[in-house]
Amino acid sequence: MHWMETDECTPGGVPAALTERLDARRLCMRGTRSLPVRCVALDAEIGVRSRCTIHPQRPSACREVDASWEHGAPSSQCDRARLAHGLPVLTPRDWAWRDDVANDDRPDEGDDSPPPPSRPPVAA
Ligand code: SF4
Repeated sequence: MHWMETDECTPGGVPAALTERLDARRLCMRGTRSLPVRCVALDAEIGVRSRCTIHPQRPSACREVDASWEHGAPSSQCDRARLAHGLPVLTPRDWAWRDDVANDDRPDEGDDSPPPPSRPPVAA
């Protein structure tokens, strides 16, 4: 990411304390520059659960990678990453709980897994 993306320059930006210098103009998240790659902001047990602890402040490079079908289309980068970790690719059904995601009710070819549980209605 460009160094100006951090909260030292941009209010609400990437926490600078979680970054390190990559070159004269760019930074990277701590933990992503050497093997094994593990971003310092990642809170995860791969294959079980995962979350970005700075999701609203994540770098532009992370914002550019959509989760497959979150916005109505597959993401080859998401699919490759999941497959590399032995996880199935996401399908439209994985987003059925989201009210703001247009879902296709038809099951995916070869996907005979039950749909995820519906989110409880929100009280008005
Ligand atoms: S999305 Fe969050 S946890 Fe993942 S690499 Fe980016 S900053 Fe790190």
